[in-house]
Amino acid sequence: MDEFQVGDRVAVEASYGCGRCRNCRLGYYTACLNYGNRQRGHRANGFTTNGGFAQYAVNHINTVHKIPDSVEFNEAALITNLGCILYGFQTVGGYVVGDSVAVVGPGPLGLVSVGVARALCAGKIFLVGTRDSRLQMGKTMGADRLINVNQENPVEVIRRETQGMGADLVIESSGATTGPQMAVEMCKRMGRVLLVGYPEEPAPVNFSMMGMRNVHIFSVRGRVGPTAAGEFRFSLKAAFP
Ligand SMILES: [Zn+2]
Repeated sequence: MDEFQVGDRVAVEASYGCGRCRNCRLGYYTACLNYGNRQRGHRANGFTTNGGFAQYAVNHINTVHKIPDSVEFNEAALITNLGCILYGFQTVGGYVVGDSVAVVGPGPLGLVSVGVARALCAGKIFLVGTRDSRLQMGKTMGADRLINVNQENPVEVIRRETQGMGADLVIESSGATTGPQMAVEMCKRMGRVLLVGYPEEPAPVNFSMMGMRNVHIFSVRGRVGPTAAGEFRFSLKAAFP
């Protein structure tokens, strides 16, 4: 062990790829082709191996990152969520300056999405949810327009407030079975939908509507890429400057 000392404060990436399959070799280790195969070295903490609720845990050194002194443990606990969303923005093209962004579901991923969209100079940011306390928290993170679905129809509101076009980017993080279809409906023609919340049951989507509107759909798993370690460090800085 060289760069770490006993007593260092560290954060741990949940995923570690086999390092030998094509996806891992390209840096896409959260999409490891040996997923779940521990004999080949893959692990996904909390999914295929034990998670972090233990006094001691063994992790590969490549997945361990020092936490800067300025970052508290409870702040660092959000790093995985933030990294996932940064990877999502990277996947949809990265450039959202001036774009209208609709975030559905103000859970940790949704709230982090609002913060990242704001940091990347998005235009109007809509946040859609049911709990006012969560929506208000989203406002402190940069949301311009809060939509409580119990009081307003989010598709109508977003269409109306984008001159009838719909949002340039919709981030579906609610995990509701109605979420993916609603995301398509509130997305503008040629817009993008990023799926980061996954329903437990198969979710219906009107593919004709999606195709006729030329909507692009993306999904991400974890955070990934040749610059992953760099992103991880960027995450810490972006979240807690
Ligand atoms: Zn692999």
